[in-house]
Amino acid sequence: MKVVRSPRQLQRILEEERLRKRTVGFVPTMGALHEGHLSLVKAADRENDITVVSIFVNPTQFGPGEDYAKYPRVLGADKRLLGKGKVDYLFCPSVRDIYPPGHATCVTVDGAMARVLCGKFRPGHFQGVATVVAKLLNIVGPCRLYLGAKDYQQAAIIRRFVEDLNMNARVRVMPTVREKDGLAMSSRNRYLGPAERRRALALSRALFELRRDILGKKGTLAFLKARAVRKLKDAVDRVQYFEIVDPVTLAPLKMVRREMVALTACFVGKTRLIDNVIISLR
Ligand code: AMP
Repeated sequence: MKVVRSPRQLQRILEEERLRKRTVGFVPTMGALHEGHLSLVKAADRENDITVVSIFVNPTQFGPGEDYAKYPRVLGADKRLLGKGKVDYLFCPSVRDIYPPGHATCVTVDGAMARVLCGKFRPGHFQGVATVVAKLLNIVGPCRLYLGAKDYQQAAIIRRFVEDLNMNARVRVMPTVREKDGLAMSSRNRYLGPAERRRALALSRALFELRRDILGKKGTLAFLKARAVRKLKDAVDRVQYFEIVDPVTLAPLKMVRREMVALTACFVGKTRLIDNVIISLR
C-alpha cells in the first residue's frame, strides 16, 4: 500500500495505471476505519484491478458546533487495518491540499432530496459532501465508487450529482455492516459510553421491528411509524427524525409502497447516530 499525500502526484500515478488499462475502484472515507469501511475495500478489490482508499476529515461537511475538532483521527491504526485488505494506494491529503487558499467552487445538489432528513438538520452538510466527493472523483478518476448504505441519503445525493454532472464513475452502494447485536458500525460509536452503547441499540431495533411489522401487515404506515417513534423516544435522548421515504427521491411516504426506506437520526447522550433499513415488499 503506497501512501500518497499530494493530489497532483496521485493524479499522475493513476493516469499511468489507466494507460496500462487498469480499472480503478475508489473508497472515500474520513478514517477511524471499521469493518463497514473494509467491506467497501473488499468490494473494490473484487471488482477492480487497483483499489484506492482516501482518508480525509472534510471540514466543509461539518456545521458549527459539530464534531469536526474531535472527530477521531487514528491514521496509524487505519493503516494497520487497511494492511489486512488489498489496498494499492492510500490517499491522505491535508486540508490545504484539498482547499488551497482561494478555493471558491462548490457542488450543490439543489433538490428536495437534499433538504429532507439530515439535510434539514445539517444545513450545508451535503454541499460539503458533494464538493469533496466531486473533487476526489476528479483526482482519482475511478471506474467505480464504493459507498455504504449506512449513509443512505449521502449515497442517494452522490448518485444524483454523478449522473447530473455526467461523471464517469459507476456508483456502487454496499449493505450496512452491523455489530453482532445489530448496531450499525460507525466511527462515531467510539464516542458512546457503555450505558449509551446499550441504548444505541434502540435505533436498529426500532427499524427492524418496523420492517417486520410492515411486512407482516400489522397496521397502517402511520400507526407503525408512530409506535416505532414512541419506543425510540423511550430509549434515546432525542429523536431528530424518523421517516419512511421513497428510495430514490427520498420523498416522505404516507402509504405502503413496494419499495421504501425507513431512516432515523437520534442523539444518545451528545452522540448523533443515524441508521436505516430498506423495506421491500417484492
Ligand atoms: P465515513 O468514514 O463515515 O465518511 O464513511 C466512509 C464510507 O463508509 C461511506 O460511504 C459510508 O457510508 C461507509 N460506511 C460507514 N459505515 C458503514 C457501515 N457500517 N457499513 C457499510 N458502509 C459503511
